Amino acid sequence: MSEGTKLLEQTRNLIKECIDELGVNPSVYEYMKEPRKTIIVNIPVKMDDGTVKSFTGYRVQHNNALGPYKGGIRFHPNADLDEVKALATLMTLKTAIIEGVPFGGGKGGVTVDPKKLSQSELQRLSRGYIRAISLFIGTKKDIPAPDVNTNPQIMAWMADEYSYIRRQAEHEIITGKPIEIGGSKGRTQATSRGLMFVAQKACELIGINFEGSEVVIQGFGNVGGNAAILFHEAGAKVIAVSDVEGAIYNRNGLDIPELIKYNKQYGTIATYPDAKQITNEELLELECDILAPCALENQITKENAPRIKAKIIAEGANGPTTAEADKILEEKGILICPDVIANAGGVVVSYLEWVQGNYHFQWKEETVNAELYEKIVPAFEKIYNFAQERKISMRRSAFMVGIKRLADVMEIRGWLSK
Ligand code: NAD
Repeated sequence: MSEGTKLLEQTRNLIKECIDELGVNPSVYEYMKEPRKTIIVNIPVKMDDGTVKSFTGYRVQHNNALGPYKGGIRFHPNADLDEVKALATLMTLKTAIIEGVPFGGGKGGVTVDPKKLSQSELQRLSRGYIRAISLFIGTKKDIPAPDVNTNPQIMAWMADEYSYIRRQAEHEIITGKPIEIGGSKGRTQATSRGLMFVAQKACELIGINFEGSEVVIQGFGNVGGNAAILFHEAGAKVIAVSDVEGAIYNRNGLDIPELIKYNKQYGTIATYPDAKQITNEELLELECDILAPCALENQITKENAPRIKAKIIAEGANGPTTAEADKILEEKGILICPDVIANAGGVVVSYLEWVQGNYHFQWKEETVNAELYEKIVPAFEKIYNFAQERKISMRRSAFMVGIKRLADVMEIRGWLSK
């Protein structure tokens, strides 16, 4: 079973349980168990050596009760349909949890190892993907964004291709763009900043001083790398980080600005000299205040969960904890900040980018960051309070908050009752 299939199954199971427990109209499940539309495309790409290679791409439009479908595009060798479906379902919940973000849930993916492509091949693949799905997306229909192994440059190629197809400037089709073509200030760090706001609030709720708290981060890409910078700047002590090549640890705190420079130069942090080399497995089990998994799904499992010593888990990644692990961690009294709220900063600022794009505004970064705080922290507190009140896990609480809102909106739109 692929990691994506596992994530899809556990997400669906929890949705079903939450619908039953909430007592909302059971028909809500009919709208949640499968996406509204699944698009599978074949993308032929001319390679630099003159051959043509084709790649499989997906766009999954899960639910648009609240507004246009919204969700990132992942380039990864293990990307498959079930993974994209699972991630699209989580997006539907994420946008439902945050009030004032009028989007539904979607996700995209291409099965490819982008590290094996040249820049020009990557550009042709990105443009080919958008061409292949162009009929199904739109600035008021489905608005993609970056995810694993995609970045502002790739978003720029995609926005450019879409505008070319439409014969007019429609850069609002995509978020996470470079500032020069209508990106928002603060978008690159938005997911990590949201993660930090949530982690700070979690510390406050259980009486940990965020400043000086010990933080472990898995993954050093857009989410993990920026989380390391922001946590460090806010006074936390980042003691361990990792990427796909390996992990490093320094109990006295890593020199994050130096590490960022090192990563830029060598393309990995795993060989950074001023720290002890450890494995990714060891990293997850380190004693710390905050563990932030910011890589891929199913990293915390029933095997390693009993050995996890963090006090707070702030899920930067989507689906990093399996359902079995979730139970073990809750029993251990670890405060889990689930993905659907902890990493929602990206979609919040994507929304702000979309608004700025539609109205041709350019807001100051402070305005964007303040708006992000206003949207994410109260939503997190609501989930925490609901979990306390109902004596349920944080993930169950988050799912219930999202599902309740979706059920209400589906009812108002006439999707449920006769
Ligand atoms: P990215 O491609 O920028 O970075 C991924 C990082 O994870 C890289 O450092 C990579 O080396 C590392 N990695 C991969 N496999 C690993 C492994 N087995 N062990 C340790 N490290 C590993 O991707 P990203 O955009 O930072 O996304 C990371 C996670 O955050 C994903 O789950 C994604 O869905 C989620 N997310 C991203 C955003 C966003 O705005 N980019 C928003 C919300 C959620």
